[in-house]
Amino acid sequence: MSSSYPKVLVCGGAGYIGSHVVKSLGERGADVLVYDNLSTGHRDMITHGELVVGELADTDLLRKTVINFRPDIVIHFAASIQVGESMQKPFNYYYNNVINTLGLLKVISEEGPGALIFSSTAAVYGNPDKIPAHEDTTLAPINPYGTSKLISETIMAELAALNKLDYIALRYFNVAGADPENRIGQKYKAATHLITRALKTAKGEFSTLKIFGTDYETPDGTCIRDYIHVTDLAEAHVLAMNNLLKSKKNAIYNVGYGRGSSVWEVINIAREVTGVDFSVEKAPRREGDPPKLIAGAEKIRKELDWIPKHDSLKFILETAWRWEKSLDVS
Ligand code: UDP
Repeated sequence: MSSSYPKVLVCGGAGYIGSHVVKSLGERGADVLVYDNLSTGHRDMITHGELVVGELADTDLLRKTVINFRPDIVIHFAASIQVGESMQKPFNYYYNNVINTLGLLKVISEEGPGALIFSSTAAVYGNPDKIPAHEDTTLAPINPYGTSKLISETIMAELAALNKLDYIALRYFNVAGADPENRIGQKYKAATHLITRALKTAKGEFSTLKIFGTDYETPDGTCIRDYIHVTDLAEAHVLAMNNLLKSKKNAIYNVGYGRGSSVWEVINIAREVTGVDFSVEKAPRREGDPPKLIAGAEKIRKELDWIPKHDSLKFILETAWRWEKSLDVS
């Protein structure tokens, strides 16, 4: 298929964020190919393009896929993403996030396209010395998840300096919500993230929601995060991709709204949106959690003209709830 729009290989495109980006790209007529091992992704979340089922670690298949498809750019989502799990199983994070990213970088720097949009995370800041955390805030991860992404970013920066890669890394804050058209959303039974967990509790899949830590030095004692709607994040990828292809300018951007909400605030809005006064239980702090993470995200607004459309915790929860209700409990 020929298209004036770029050919995009999306690693991890069957997953939660990847599938929203595939949808945004596909709606603009991009020629998309998804590469995913379906470990947490789902075939039916892919709205556009073909799927190659493969491991990121399988660099022979990855190389063949790149040679056959000849993408103009790669967007890389395929990673492990849970802070708590990373404290329990650090090697999974080093292998899956660092080693596999390295394999992908080698393939694309040898075979082309040599251009990559990378999913990074606010976890690279650890417990930031300044809030909001801007891109130049000290990088000091406090969990293997953040470390794994920082190592990947460091390698990419070096490859870029050696003229072997053009890249943009997007440091996501807390991504939530679902496609406002309700075609796709998060489909992960063992979900551990707060919003999904709260809604699944409202739905009756869990008997109670544990609040990990109520004694933080925050106004209500619970952790504060910058929750961002997945569709706004998807749009940031499209802008980043277009900009990288046009200007070849390597960059790192925070993607968040610059607004913090506590765990209690999320619970209250979740109860309001669902109409269910679900049970919550105070629990010990979860290892590896920073008390407060809020994005300083002026740079992406200024340089990429990113204009978020869904900057509302209520809207995030409403779309996530509509999606959650449409899923089978089984
Ligand atoms: N959290 C919680 N109960 C849960 C899941 C998460 O209290 O069942 C808290 C977690 O400790 C953190 C915040 O909610 O303070 C956001 O956690 P999440 O796992 O959603 O994202 P993270 O910030 O770890 O990427």
